[in-house]
Amino acid sequence: MPVVINKATELKALLDSGASNNFIHQETARKLGLTPIRKQEPQEVKDIQGKNLGWISHYVKVMLDAAQHQEIINLNIIPLGIHGLVIGLPWLQKHDPDIKWSKQKIRFSSMFCKENCNRRSPHTV
Ligand SMILES: [Zn+2]
Repeated sequence: MPVVINKATELKALLDSGASNNFIHQETARKLGLTPIRKQEPQEVKDIQGKNLGWISHYVKVMLDAAQHQEIINLNIIPLGIHGLVIGLPWLQKHDPDIKWSKQKIRFSSMFCKENCNRRSPHTV
């Protein structure tokens, strides 16, 4: 899904229903000049066997735009993986988007998005 971070940088976000949270790679966060915020409690990153892969100690707060969909989102900074930006299951459950996998199209039509995330033009009611 193409997204825009802080109205400036376009990125491809991977929607991953197997991911337990939203993650941004530390290199990507650094390149975008995002300011890391320390988490109150570091969070363990585990692989599928439950083995520790490292710790998440910081996150960034960004404005995330995806077409007409806009929100402020926290992204955990992760030192591993190959994807710059991963959007995980809690986000998918919260926004509940309609995804047409065959056409790679995503539509935000849930009640939550209508009330919270869809940008409205001031001229429409
Ligand atoms: Zn939404």
